[in-house]
Amino acid sequence: MGCRTFVKGSLYRWEHTCGKKNCRCAEGALHEHWVLSYYEKEGKLVKVYLTPEEVGALEKAVEAHREFKKTRARLAKKHAQLLPLINELENALAMPPPNRKKKEKG
Ligand SMILES: [Zn+2]
Repeated sequence: MGCRTFVKGSLYRWEHTCGKKNCRCAEGALHEHWVLSYYEKEGKLVKVYLTPEEVGALEKAVEAHREFKKTRARLAKKHAQLLPLINELENALAMPPPNRKKKEKG
């Protein structure tokens, strides 16, 4: 994974029945899977069943992405606050252009 520390997706536990009449799930002992869902670039939702070994690391990776998104939102807000100040600075530093208007005789 190198320096990649988060995964863009959601993690959840899925409990379900399989539909077989003689299965334990028919008496309430549901099957359960951990699922990672995420959107591909084309916008298609993908669901991946996880092995028990993958769950812990992916929980951390999903949480890390949540934190990343919070930080990005804070930065975007700061940027919106900074832009008017940068524009004000630009106006304060700009020289006025030479004035070629003729004075009107009245
Ligand atoms: Zn079953």
